[in-house]
Formats: sequence, structure tokens, C-alpha cells
Amino acid sequence: MTRSLVYNWQLARKMEYTYEARRPKRQFAFVFNINRCIACQTCTMACRSTWTFSKGQEFMWWNNVETKPYGGYPQFWDVKTLQLLEKANPGGQVWDVTKKDGINRPYGVFKGKTIFEAATKHYGPEGAQEALGYIPGDEEWRYPNIYEDTATGYKGAKGEWSEPVMLPEHKTWFFYLQRLCNHCSYPACVAACPRKAIYKREEDGIVLIDQKRCRGYKKCVEACPYKKPMFRGTTRISEKCIACYPRIEGKDPHISPDHAPMETRCMTACVGKIRLQGLVKIDQEKGEWAEDRYNPLYYLVKVAKVALPLYPQFGTEPNGYYIPPRWVPRAYLQQMFGPGVDEAIEKYSTPSRELLGVLQIFRAQQKIIYRYEIKEGKKIYETTVNGKKWSIYDDTVIGYDQKGNEVVRLNVEEPMIIREAKRVNSI
Ligand code: SF4
Ligand code: SF4
Ligand code: SF4
Repeated sequence: MTRSLVYNWQLARKMEYTYEARRPKRQFAFVFNINRCIACQTCTMACRSTWTFSKGQEFMWWNNVETKPYGGYPQFWDVKTLQLLEKANPGGQVWDVTKKDGINRPYGVFKGKTIFEAATKHYGPEGAQEALGYIPGDEEWRYPNIYEDTATGYKGAKGEWSEPVMLPEHKTWFFYLQRLCNHCSYPACVAACPRKAIYKREEDGIVLIDQKRCRGYKKCVEACPYKKPMFRGTTRISEKCIACYPRIEGKDPHISPDHAPMETRCMTACVGKIRLQGLVKIDQEKGEWAEDRYNPLYYLVKVAKVALPLYPQFGTEPNGYYIPPRWVPRAYLQQMFGPGVDEAIEKYSTPSRELLGVLQIFRAQQKIIYRYEIKEGKKIYETTVNGKKWSIYDDTVIGYDQKGNEVVRLNVEEPMIIREAKRVNSI
């Protein structure tokens, strides 16, 4: 196998990949605030009712929300991949956090092996693979929401859940993990496809399967560590999240009469307002996100560093980022989101004025926000958190779309509207 050396900024090092690095002009990306999710599955149903309601797609959930630590769709997708990596590189899957350096090496340097590097020594029945992976059995796809709301924890002498529920870590805990294709910068699905049927779009980095080229070899299903390509029995080819590209393109006059890019179905439907999706600028020379200080995604991931990639150690440079849940044991979160967890939780727990402002624009409207602005307001609350003074200000946050039009304006303090007494029970 001849491989290229490409730069993965999440790992802060070069790594082996099947193809040469080719970055899109902009990259589809999203930030999910796990702390806010109520597992209503509205996102799941929004995707399903738009794209996967046909015969043969019955078990196809491009967007899913699973309960961690036990839930998974397909079942144990992450545990199985982590085990394969550990077997390929026993004890070596570690980060060098002494090399952390602000914007260049935000999480330190990953010293272990990615799924691409581990695959060079991993021989399956067909010889060496492009990426370390496995194909889940049919039964693993059958229960998309298995172990919903099932906690793990420590039991007392009488078998009761005895430990108190207190921050910084709950002893009895679960949380919801919202998942879709990460439209990775180094997609394992692209690397593995022998038909070259999968491609990453130059304009927005969206990863698509060409339905005419695909022959259903399932190599993408095997290689994707997030298990987001899915095989359809009726057509015998694979399908995956298409990032609702007609909405992203802003080309559908029924959705976006002024052609401004819109967020996807699963993003705009989110009841808990946990989702913010956008298109980040890419610096072609650096092979990295270009500085774009007032893009909300750039701010959350690169400046505030409250949002972290999901399993960055897999090496695909996923473009989905998560604000980790505050109450979950840190060791579990560090394995899932890398070494940035402590800093992210600390920043989220006592947000700066700017962060609190940006957190307001999650799901405030449907257009993709390219830039935000914050106008300062008066102090409305003061308290002490972890021994430090912390204040809330009623700042105003304004979001602008691709064309520079204002599309959202709201305040940190939500206005309270009291109905007149004569209308108390009227709708
Ligand atoms: S999440 Fe999986 S299917 Fe999606 S781009 Fe990455 S490797 Fe491909
Ligand atoms: S982006 Fe669109 S296609 Fe992808 S999971 Fe969300 S709703 Fe489904
Ligand atoms: S719609 Fe939002 S709040 Fe509801 S399950 Fe999906 S991500 Fe969570």
C-alpha cells in the first residue's frame, strides 16, 4: 500500500492516509451541546421523514441519539473500534499533553495509532485493509435506541444506587450522544471504497456516496469508525447522510427564497436547541480551519475550546464537535473527546460574556450563521461559582447569514411576557 502523509490538526501531527490531502473551500461542521439534549428524537425523525422512509431503509437512521455508556447504534460501535485499536497497539493509544499549545496543538499530540495506521498491520481475509474496522452483524442494527436512559453507577451494600449526585462527577450517570456522519476531513469510507464511489465535495466538504458507482461491497461500512454508511438490502448498495445538501446549497426556492444556505433538517428541528451547524472557512495552505474570529463555530472550537471532536484518535478528523456533559466521569469523557475535556467543562460551567452570548444562537432560526456580533448590556446577576465571582450581563447577540443579512437578534435574558388576566387560559 502506498500512503500519503497528511496533516491532522486534531492530532497535531502528520498521519498516513490513502490519498493526498485535499481540503474543500469551506467545510460542513457542527457543534452539539450535550448538556442540553432531552433525547426527544425530533432530529432523528426529521431526518427519517425526509430521507429514509422507503422500503429497505427500515433500520436506517442516519441521525440517531443514543444513551451512553451502554447504548449504541449499531450496538457497541465505539467500544468495538476502541478494542481493535488497543489490540493493534497495546497500551500505546495515548496523548502527549505536555505539547499542548493554544491554537496549533489544542489537545496536545496524539502518540498512538489512527485507524489508518493500525490497519497496515491488520490483515483480514482479503489482506491488508485501508482502515481498521469491522462490519456489524444485522442484529447490531436492530435496536437503534437500546438501553435508553439506562444509567451506570456504583451500588451500595443492599444493591441500591447509593452514591450522591453531585458535581464535578456523578457516580450514577448516563448521557445522550447525538450522532450523524461527521463529513470527516480524512474519511475512512472514502479511503476504503474500492470502487471510488465515495467523494468529498470541494465546495462544502460534504461526503457523498455516488449511488450509480456503488456496488454494495460494504467496505465503507467496515471502515467508518462511526458506522455511518449503511447497507440497503433492497437496492444492495450503501447509503449515508447527505448533509441535506439541497438546504446547504440554498438552491431550493421553497426552502430559501433568497438562496442563503440553510441548516439541515436534523439541526433545524432540534427541540432542545443543542445544535449549531455551519460552514467553516479552510486555509488551503495550512490544511486547517482559517481564522474567522466571529464565525460561531470557529469561536466555539478554536477560541473558547468548549466543543471537542468525537473520538479524534480514530484519525478521520471528524467535523462534528461536542460540548461535553458536565456530570460524567472525566476519564470516560477523555477517552471519547480527547484531553481537552477539563478545559471545555470549566469554560462551559462559568461561561465568559462572549460564550454565553454565542450559546444563545443555537437553533434560533434556520439560516446558517456566518458571523455574530455582541452588543454589551447591563449586569443582571452576580454570584460565586467554584470560589470565583461570576456575573451575567444582558448582552445582545446578533447573527448574520452568508449575505451579511441579520437573521437573528436575541438577548441573554429572555424577555418574560405575562398574559393579561382575561387571556390566561386562551390559546
Ligand atoms: S463519519 Fe464515516 S461515513 Fe461519515 S465521512 Fe467520516 S468516515 Fe465517512
Ligand atoms: S444532515 Fe440531513 S441527511 Fe444528515 S442526518 Fe441530518 S437530516 Fe439526515
Ligand atoms: S432534537 Fe435536539 S434535543 Fe431532541 S434528541 Fe435531537 S439533539 Fe436532542
